[in-house]
Amino acid sequence: MSSSGRSAGPCLPEGDTIWRTAAALRQRIGGKVVSDARPHALARLRGRRLESVEPTGKHLVMQFEGGLALHSHMRMTGSWHLYRTGERWRQPERRATAVLTFDEVVAVCFAAPVMELVVDAGRPVAHLGPDILVDPFELDEVIRRARHSEAPTLGELLLEQRVCAGIGNIYKCEALWALRLDAWMPSANLDDERLRHLYLAARDLMRRNLLTPIARQRHAVHGRSGRPCPRCGTPIRIRAQGQQARLTYFCPRCQGEHLSAHPDRPQQGGREIFSNGRRSGSRRR
Ligand SMILES: [Zn+2]
Repeated sequence: MSSSGRSAGPCLPEGDTIWRTAAALRQRIGGKVVSDARPHALARLRGRRLESVEPTGKHLVMQFEGGLALHSHMRMTGSWHLYRTGERWRQPERRATAVLTFDEVVAVCFAAPVMELVVDAGRPVAHLGPDILVDPFELDEVIRRARHSEAPTLGELLLEQRVCAGIGNIYKCEALWALRLDAWMPSANLDDERLRHLYLAARDLMRRNLLTPIARQRHAVHGRSGRPCPRCGTPIRIRAQGQQARLTYFCPRCQGEHLSAHPDRPQQGGREIFSNGRRSGSRRR
């Protein structure tokens, strides 16, 4: 999220970033009327008042008067920016997937892979699990969904938005480290009580960060490959995990107790990623 040229850091599409985005959009354009909307597919928003901005997981739903809603999903690339009319944009116009003009303010969404007008504002988020940041947190429902999930490992389970919406890669890594859990541990090996602790740890970390400016946030393992674990001093490691090859940062000493049970971790070497992003070793099997 960038607001009037002030950068809030790189787009990290975690649930807490979407909450910040929603709060900024609400504050600047909530209750205002769209005077222009581009591209052409969004032209029906012209003349409509923005009634609400609701984040769910990594989705953002902007409800306009007359029953029309704009659904955007940021995935890895998208971000909403707010500019004053005439202010220079921080990204080129060709990357804009939505441009909404409200008298002196322009809301621009860059590179969102999903941008659609919907009549039923609940539909785009109907499949999602309970939001990690919402009060009250529906933890029982999260655990119930987790037990039906096909995500094979804890690292993949935490990112499964159908189980619990809003946890991204950063808080996946941080919560697993906080509870000394191996990201490659089969989800079924963790009992309900420890699984509850894991989701609560992710929620606590994310809620704490809602109050901390992004530039001042510090992480224990995420983004710290090769640097010492804050708990034991062992160098933090990084590996790609699961079919999506999401990068998992972890302490091999604090979190390594299930090394033999890794379905997608090779026995020796392979798929290790160094801090420059280069993979070493041979692919498994
Ligand atoms: Zn450690």
